[in-house]
Amino acid sequence: MPLARLFDYLAADATHADIGRRVEVPFGPRRRVGVLLELAEASDCAWSELKPVRRIDRATPPLPQELLVLARFAADYYQYPLGAVLAALLPPALRRATGDRVAPMTASVAHAPTEAGLAAMATLGPRAHAQRALAERLRAGALPLAQTTPRERALLRAWLNKGWVVPMADAPPSGPADAPPQATAEQAEAVARVQHAGSGFNAFLLHGVTGSGKTEVYLRLIDQVLERGLQALVLVPEIHLVPQFADRLARRFPERTRVQLHSALADGERRAAWLAALSGDADIVLGTRLAVFAPLPRLGLIVVDEEHDAAYKQMEGMRYSARDVAVWRAQARGVAIVLGSATPSLESWRNAQAGRYRLLTLSQRARTSSDLPPVRLIDSRIDRPRQGLSSALADALRERLQRGEQSLVFINRRGYAPTLLCNGCGHVFPCPRCSAHLVLHRARGGYRLVCHHCGLTARPPEVCPQCGNPDLRPAGQGTQRLEESLAERFPEARILRIDRDTAARKGAFAAMREQVEARAVDILVGTQIVAKGHDFPHLTLVGVIGADQALVSPDYRAGERLFAQLMQVAGRAGRAEHAGEVLIQTAYPRHPLYQAVIRHDYAAFAAATLRERRGADLPPFVSQALLRAEAREEDAALAFLLAARAAGLGLAAEVRLFDPVAALMARIAGRHRLQLLVQAARRVRLRDFLRRWLPLLEALPARGVKWSLDVDPVDY
Ligand code: ADP
Ligand code: ZN
Repeated sequence: MPLARLFDYLAADATHADIGRRVEVPFGPRRRVGVLLELAEASDCAWSELKPVRRIDRATPPLPQELLVLARFAADYYQYPLGAVLAALLPPALRRATGDRVAPMTASVAHAPTEAGLAAMATLGPRAHAQRALAERLRAGALPLAQTTPRERALLRAWLNKGWVVPMADAPPSGPADAPPQATAEQAEAVARVQHAGSGFNAFLLHGVTGSGKTEVYLRLIDQVLERGLQALVLVPEIHLVPQFADRLARRFPERTRVQLHSALADGERRAAWLAALSGDADIVLGTRLAVFAPLPRLGLIVVDEEHDAAYKQMEGMRYSARDVAVWRAQARGVAIVLGSATPSLESWRNAQAGRYRLLTLSQRARTSSDLPPVRLIDSRIDRPRQGLSSALADALRERLQRGEQSLVFINRRGYAPTLLCNGCGHVFPCPRCSAHLVLHRARGGYRLVCHHCGLTARPPEVCPQCGNPDLRPAGQGTQRLEESLAERFPEARILRIDRDTAARKGAFAAMREQVEARAVDILVGTQIVAKGHDFPHLTLVGVIGADQALVSPDYRAGERLFAQLMQVAGRAGRAEHAGEVLIQTAYPRHPLYQAVIRHDYAAFAAATLRERRGADLPPFVSQALLRAEAREEDAALAFLLAARAAGLGLAAEVRLFDPVAALMARIAGRHRLQLLVQAARRVRLRDFLRRWLPLLEALPARGVKWSLDVDPVDY
């Protein structure tokens, strides 16, 4: 764990106006960037030991007080060092010490001339010297604000209003500006209810079936806050979802300054976007979970799209939930927050049921022509799949091909086959370093066995290492194998596979989406990466394969995830003119989860699942924290957790400390992983306990043990 303390430095010339500013300080042999948090007259350190701050960055506006408060809150709630929280909050380019040259940090937005603007600029009178000079510079290309004088900036603002220039903080719109459609009755009602709730903090859960037009609700709410001169923060769970949303924003708000914040940006881009947010230049900030910490001096609204998505939870470092942080932030700032989903998290659903969140419902699809697609369960015990495909699904695919419509076959396993199996003795190939099987992948030059946990790659053996049998066969289906068998069965079809392997290259996913939109694809084979939030208008069939897997998972959240995934993927079908259909292959068609999926009945699923959780004393009815420990020697990790447990018991708090157990993935890359669960009936109890427990943990001997604390864990 990073150090939890704050550090004192001498800063003779610092004033209160410097709180929140970046400073460069000597730290050991090096220089580090820090944030000035407090001014003190005295220090616990000896005078002679105090070192002076090398530089206070006064070229950049300080981190706003609100953000410092949020950072302190997150540090306390997640029991993570404040310094590390603040470091994580800064874009990488501002985290690095630059020596004596602190680069000027005012660069944010650039402006580019529009077609019409260039024409208008050509007609500027000969005496409009300043304007002509500016026009000249714009003709040479986009002009960063940082390279302009105040006078030029005033001109740019005027030209922005006339439509002569557009801000280039984000990509320009892909097409003409969108006129808002006539809102559906439910959309109008949802917007009105947010509006009537007035200003100040209010949390709304927007439960809208897939295709119900949740985005339109967001856009209208964003429009309202922009009109009031405020900023909007929009979060999406995955980087892949950013471009589509960015384009919606660009087409609806072409004249507004929009920026993105996510980890795929180059350092310079991210710094520029962050500074545009901080300076207030940016009207809309769109990003992934890290954007929840964007500095927003005029914040007026937070939108969290697909709020149920586990990707909002950071799985390393400070294990925060961006959704939860967003709710606290909205509360602290006194602004509205809208959490949207077709399948809300059970946490949010319960909050809505309890009246803490206001529930907004979109029960119908926005386009009158498109109903929710009928879902059919294919009993795989009767209609036995051949190469993964039941005859019902194969027939449905053929029908779509004949009609020139698109299909999606969803299978949540990448690679060729989940395992390689010896047909003689039944041996499967475990990863020698992890508690997992090796997955068979097809690679250039043959097959490979790959571990999805530690990355180990090996050539498959010629014969079984156990019995010498040469008859080794792939067992089960992965995206690659399915792609192959579809190609054999439908040689005329254009097939595209979308999974983490094919989408890895930057821009690959966007390119694939364009291919699908341009109808250059007949059958899509994809993992959950395609299931989320994408609008594929020509898709009329969705087939689901291998879903049963999740029903037998030891993770109690697997059912909730499967349900959300199935509803999401089903929601891809028939979103435009053509009716859609969903076929799910399963050996358990009577399972209540599938029955709820058929009826598109989220509420029933949520009610049943919440009942189970209440009965089993599981979240959201209790609060949990997980102390994880990993080590080469299992005993070392266990000893640490036992000592931690003993220390916790000594605190006599109202929490339950379970026995240390192995994690679901008991070993990764040769390291044993164990964990200790702490549970409390209420969040505050847990927090009070953790505050007292953590210092004790830090004092424990932990040689060779890497440990971390995960508050509100979502994976075990
Ligand atoms: P969701 O996010 O709820 O799944 P979207 O926001 O993607 O749904 O909207 C689904 C489709 O309906 C989109 O193509 C969108 O353009 C369209 N749509 C949304 N609202 C309206 C409306 N009021 N009138 C007509 N079409 C709409
Ligand atoms: Zn491995």
